[in-house]
Amino acid sequence: MRILVANDDGYLAPGLAALADRMRGLGEIFVIAPESNHSGASNSLTLSRPLTVREATNGFRYVNGTPTDCVHIALTGLLDQRPDLIVAGINNGQNMGDDTIYSGTVAAAMEGYLFGVPAIAFSQIEKGHAHLDAAADVAADVVARFLRDPLPAPVLLNVNIPNRPREELRGMRVTRLGKRHHSEPVIRAANPHGEPIYWIGAAGVAKDAGPGTDFHAVENGYVSITPLQIDLTHCGQMGSVEQWLQRGPN
Ligand code: MN
Repeated sequence: MRILVANDDGYLAPGLAALADRMRGLGEIFVIAPESNHSGASNSLTLSRPLTVREATNGFRYVNGTPTDCVHIALTGLLDQRPDLIVAGINNGQNMGDDTIYSGTVAAAMEGYLFGVPAIAFSQIEKGHAHLDAAADVAADVVARFLRDPLPAPVLLNVNIPNRPREELRGMRVTRLGKRHHSEPVIRAANPHGEPIYWIGAAGVAKDAGPGTDFHAVENGYVSITPLQIDLTHCGQMGSVEQWLQRGPN
């Protein structure tokens, strides 16, 4: 089995080392990650300049680009053979609900999925990587299951893991994405020249966090596994937009 390992926190991130370490026992691994932290990069590709791939002393490749650049380059230019699975993470912080739109961790996995490779994104809920070993155990467990018993259609799984010791994790739940309130406002400050500068504010708190959601599962001590899809078409609105168009200009 060939496993491509990536992340968005950068090639020096502890979550990447922990994930790569556990994947090593399950297959032949190839690790590629951004040179610097690209959390929140979503699915961006770098098109305005060339990219460089370098190799760290531990064998990890790093790219002066985005998570999506990393997986894209690996799949289209570096690997002789297509991997059987792509894993991303373990992210320093949750990727639930609306986070999945902005997440570079999910994007790294999604890039593989777009190329037809099954992909799994792993995130720990709280920042700081408390109980990272337990999260890596969970990742190894999920991947081992997948390799032994692959899901039939190509999958993109979004896995969120509570920061708990292994024995305090209550199991795994298949969930749907919840929803957050709007983000906190930007934080305005001034630079040394007196010009205003802005920091993007924190994500909103959970709004739809009822039973069945990712938020609800992790709140109750379960690992959340959400199968994701990509088609953004709002099929339910096609009829009303069609009618709106038919009414003509006036
Ligand atoms: Mn991140």
